[in-house]
Amino acid sequence: SVPVTDRVVVLEKLGQGAAGRVHKALDLKNLRYVAMKAIPVVQRDKRRQMVHELKALHGALRDDQSSDRQHVVQFYDAFANMSTATVSLMVEYMDGGSLQQICDNGGLSDERVLASLYKQAAKGLRYLHSTKHVHRDLKPANMLINRKGVLKLSDFGVVRKLEERDHVTEESTPEMLDPGVARVSLDAKTSRLCPARSFVGTVTYMSPERIGGLEYSTPADVWSLGLSFLNVALGKLPLENDDGYWSLLKSIRDEPPPQLPDHYSEKFRACVARCLAKDPAERPTADDVVKDPFCGIDDDESVCSTTDSVKRRLHRRSVGELVATLQAS
Ligand code: ATP
Ligand code: MG
Repeated sequence: SVPVTDRVVVLEKLGQGAAGRVHKALDLKNLRYVAMKAIPVVQRDKRRQMVHELKALHGALRDDQSSDRQHVVQFYDAFANMSTATVSLMVEYMDGGSLQQICDNGGLSDERVLASLYKQAAKGLRYLHSTKHVHRDLKPANMLINRKGVLKLSDFGVVRKLEERDHVTEESTPEMLDPGVARVSLDAKTSRLCPARSFVGTVTYMSPERIGGLEYSTPADVWSLGLSFLNVALGKLPLENDDGYWSLLKSIRDEPPPQLPDHYSEKFRACVARCLAKDPAERPTADDVVKDPFCGIDDDESVCSTTDSVKRRLHRRSVGELVATLQAS
């Protein structure tokens, strides 16, 4: 196989996450921009195994022709790099950055834009759930947008290092890397999806049942979806407190769920509140969220008109400018 250095020209750094760095790069084979995510993996065997697993996971999904698939960042390739002891993932480049950047800019107040983004994220989630996957790390930093106004979920199937204080695992060997996505299987007896295998994700967006150590499945992602959009609207999370990690966990598990303030529309507040039901059985499915009155019942029409209006305004480079444009209109 061709070494990654012959395949791409690495350009500027796009960001840094718990599991490694992300750079913009030029794919010399297909002459297109891509995002390259490098994840440190010390052992050679593990690198090879990871590349193998990633290709298998994404190869299986590639055959699926659902239109929801466009709301998941496309995976192109994976490489094991001997000299840097990393595994590189080559994925679709998203030129609008992440919703975390919108949060950092103070959030988004236009509810039409919020509804469009919410619906697109729910479609991405509906896609993952329909293919029997749980995302497990849904948060604004993993929701990327492009200049066409399309939102896509990322870091699904991406392996991560579990050393950060922000990440918890049941099996944390020093070099443990685990797919950011776990397969769920259908229990023949109860015909319910069985929970994901291990404990991976960002604690802040983690659902009460996961924090409580209970079994969790697709509803845990719906919680993270609702909490993410609460954050995108407010620009911050009402959960954040200075008492540290354990008190954050405790408050997610034991306190009433956070909610949007009164000045937001009834529909938006209700949609977020439904996703943030403490009992996972009461939460809507991703499909329910797509069809939620807030997101617009008549499917593509409302999204298209909103997306078009976003698209028309999405001609600037940076998300900061984008947000300024959106807010001003
Ligand atoms: P985590 O490691 O939990 O996923 P994270 O999402 O913050 O945390 P990364 O996935 O490494 O970390 O991404 C870091 C940043 O790089 C993102 O927040 C985003 O701004 C940028 N980024 C990631 N993937 C892409 C992409 N495909 N296109 C453009 N920018 C990207
Ligand atoms: Mg990420």
